[in-house]
Amino acid sequence: MKREKRLTKRERKALAPARPAAPHQHKHIHCVACGRHLDEVEFGVQGTATWLQCLHRSRFASCVECAEVSKRLLAEHDRTGQPVQSAQAWH
Ligand SMILES: [Zn+2]
Ligand SMILES: [Zn+2]
Ligand SMILES: [Zn+2]
Repeated sequence: MKREKRLTKRERKALAPARPAAPHQHKHIHCVACGRHLDEVEFGVQGTATWLQCLHRSRFASCVECAEVSKRLLAEHDRTGQPVQSAQAWH
């Protein structure tokens, strides 16, 4: 018997892309502390954005201004093992 091309609901779900809100997305970068959208160019030398790393070597973006708050969030995440309590992304 020939296999139907149509997918079952479950198969379609399995093929669906991961939730867009995932914190480690690369294209859409937001400050972990304030949620501001950061452009690639802001990460340049003396830019207004920077990358921070937690103890698991995951990278998190942050405004330079927010770096202290962001570091505290990462430290809290490393201490508790909970996901980083990042701010709601906004534009
Ligand atoms: Zn920020
Ligand atoms: Zn964005
Ligand atoms: Zn981590």
